[in-house]
Amino acid sequence: MTIQLAQKFEVVFGRAPEVVARAPGRVEFIGNHTDYNGGSVLGAAIDRGVWVALAPRTDGQWRFASDPNPRILSLRVGEPHRQTGDRRWLNYPLGVIAALPAFGLRAPAGFDCLVMSDLPAGAGLSSSAALELASALAFLAFTGQDAPRATVVKIGRHAENHFVGVPCGILDQGVSGFGKKDRLVFIDCRGPRFATVPMSADAQFWIFNTHTKHALVDGLYAARHRECMAAAKALGVSLLADAKSSQLEATRAKLAPAVFARARHIIEEIARVGATVRALRAGNLTKVGRLLTASHRSSQTLFENSTPELDFLVDTLTTRPNVYGARLTGGGFGGAVMALTSKKFGAAQARSVATAYARKFGAAPDILHTKTDDGATVIT
Ligand code: ADP
Ligand code: MG
Repeated sequence: MTIQLAQKFEVVFGRAPEVVARAPGRVEFIGNHTDYNGGSVLGAAIDRGVWVALAPRTDGQWRFASDPNPRILSLRVGEPHRQTGDRRWLNYPLGVIAALPAFGLRAPAGFDCLVMSDLPAGAGLSSSAALELASALAFLAFTGQDAPRATVVKIGRHAENHFVGVPCGILDQGVSGFGKKDRLVFIDCRGPRFATVPMSADAQFWIFNTHTKHALVDGLYAARHRECMAAAKALGVSLLADAKSSQLEATRAKLAPAVFARARHIIEEIARVGATVRALRAGNLTKVGRLLTASHRSSQTLFENSTPELDFLVDTLTTRPNVYGARLTGGGFGGAVMALTSKKFGAAQARSVATAYARKFGAAPDILHTKTDDGATVIT
């Protein structure tokens, strides 16, 4: 990919890049809606990502192109402004530039920038965080600056929250930044604090993207947030991560049944993240798989952020051989299901699940086969 990127850079900008950085996409492994409740989450950086290449310019311009579209988008160097229409994607690298001074870092002078990717955008694999982190590392290398990894992660999130305007948690940037091959990233969201835990090289991820999206997804997400905060308040804690199951049980009569169910999901899901870390450390993928499927069942019945499409995929996958477990991944209300499998689960098995799905719902889901990989890095 790096050679292809250099060649493409030459075609678009007529010279070689000086700096190349890459950042991976990510899968939410377990820890559903735990982030804004002060809990923990496990994610995997995957072997698909975004590359950002830069070369300097001396005429006071920032110029951008994203492969395969060779069109060059130009801006004057200065205070970045939010872009609209077909220039909207510039908000990710521009948001990073705008964030740098807030972290005591210098913004880059003029450059040509080419973005290349083998990570589908808008598929729940966080191409946005990959683009932010690759941009951040490229701009830092380009300006001869260095920053702790946790700062690079915060710069990416700052760009997404404040410049792009998406109120994402720390998972996307944290996993893209701290990912490691054959490891998962554990994030204590309140710190945030980052660590990694070993993951057997035999474990494979299969992502089935249904491309379905609940019409009311934004409103439903906000409603879940409200219900969680209402439960925390009734329990006398600032966030649900501080509440115990026994406490919740004792407060049951005071809570609306739906609010009780949401809180139970969050409290048990945070416990499942901890149990998954222990099972991973013990190399017990069967146990890990059971926890993944239990997470899905909790989403289905307690948090109610699953859909018939996602349930069908989990139901089907968990009856197939060589599947450890399966769950919805990401916010829910549509989107994708992730299955953790052994290497014996292959493309033919995945296609058969997709075919069964298509028979019921009309269209087949997209299938992505992936595994853990290293986090964001400067390549040259
Ligand atoms: P996700 O992060 O799940 O992929 P988002 O909607 O958060 O979905 O981010 C997708 C957006 O990120 C795209 O609409 C585009 O603006 C930007 N993006 C992702 N990959 C690229 C790329 N290779 N080139 C340009 N922009 C990209
Ligand atoms: Mg995103």
